[in-house]
Amino acid sequence: MTHVDVIVIGAGAAGLMCAAQAGYRGRQVTVLDMGKKPGRKILISGGGRCNFTNVNASPANYLCNNPHFVKSCLSRYSQHDFIELVERHGLQYHHKTLGQLFCDNSAQDIVDMLLTECDWAGVNIALRSEVLSVAANEGGYLVQTTQESYQCQSLVVASGGLTMPKLGATPIGYQIAAQFGLKVFPTTAALVPFTLHQHDKERFAALAGISIPCSITSDNGTSFKENLLFTHRGISGPAVLQISSFWRAGQSVSINLLPDMELKTQIQQWRETQGQKSLKNCLASVLPKRFVEILYDSNLLPDANVNQLTHRQIDELHATLHAWQIKPNGTEGYRTAEVTLGGVDTDELSSKTFEAKKAPGLYFIGEVTDVTGWLGGYNFQYCWSSGFAAGQFV
Ligand code: FAD
Repeated sequence: MTHVDVIVIGAGAAGLMCAAQAGYRGRQVTVLDMGKKPGRKILISGGGRCNFTNVNASPANYLCNNPHFVKSCLSRYSQHDFIELVERHGLQYHHKTLGQLFCDNSAQDIVDMLLTECDWAGVNIALRSEVLSVAANEGGYLVQTTQESYQCQSLVVASGGLTMPKLGATPIGYQIAAQFGLKVFPTTAALVPFTLHQHDKERFAALAGISIPCSITSDNGTSFKENLLFTHRGISGPAVLQISSFWRAGQSVSINLLPDMELKTQIQQWRETQGQKSLKNCLASVLPKRFVEILYDSNLLPDANVNQLTHRQIDELHATLHAWQIKPNGTEGYRTAEVTLGGVDTDELSSKTFEAKKAPGLYFIGEVTDVTGWLGGYNFQYCWSSGFAAGQFV
């Protein structure tokens, strides 16, 4: 039996940040992870360059049953604090679009930075250590792993969500929460591609790889202006990943394929300048040609020159291209999702310390909690913020 002050379950973004902070306070900390390497999700994130934060991060960028929960931790450790840390370690980074910050070199830089912080703070990291069970006792918590048993005063659950089971995702965090009587919201895959019904899948199969700038809207009115990407299985790209967090089974999404254009005005211009030209050719100048062809093959667009279009046809065109309705069959699920929606109810936790109100000394941070960020570096920012917050108290 090994005695330590703090055990952190999970050497991911949230766990490593929390461990370093607690270590700097003089706490003796051990991080347990079943993987062979720490920070495995960080390494594959952002296409290998880790979109580590977003300069615009604010509580509005998070889904949570308690929309106020993230305010405290984001204000106490913001994106600017993390950027300061990155700069202090001399990491090179760049701004992509929409406030997203990526490493110039590799996501490994972020992992190395966190490991350096943990090293400076005297944190011990035990890899290949799967947590099997947890029990409360007089001294705090007893944690049994495949390697060893630990006695600790504070136990931090930073075991992540269910996405990417190949990278060691397990439900242990939800199980621990339930064991101590904490409510856990049902989980689903989020920031995930949509699969299509067979007829749509066949119809759009030839478009795999084609990307269209669009604005996409869910049933509840949430909207994102990003790229849509056709894949062999369905539709993806940032627009789809974003809206997937707001989509529920059976619903449609509405896609504005010409978000920067008012089609009726554009048709008027085409009529004035190139009235004899087919609508098909005109549309192929503002949308991918192959996509236009498929809409024609599906009889969704009139086979006419622009100056032959009737008012009714123009209205229908407007509806088809500015509010194209797609009903996904489902999502690709946890296998390819970036995050897990749902998780440990934040009303069970202190928003200041992340300690469970019903279980003193037990903390939940990062993705295991019911906080899901938009695509764009917001999820890591929540990990840094929640990890930092808990690290001051464990
Ligand atoms: P995790 O990083 O999942 O860490 C949890 C750790 O706990 C894991 O290492 C796991 O091995 C360990 N664990 C689980 N169960 C046990 C157990 N029983 N015993 C011991 N250890 C256990 N977000 C962004 O903000 N920007 C991005 O660019 C970005 N890109 C992404 C790309 C992909 C492909 C994916 C899948 C996600 C991406 N995300 C991104 C989301 C981001 O990776 C997560 O939000 C974040 O990693 C969650 O961190 P965490 O510390 O809460 O959990």
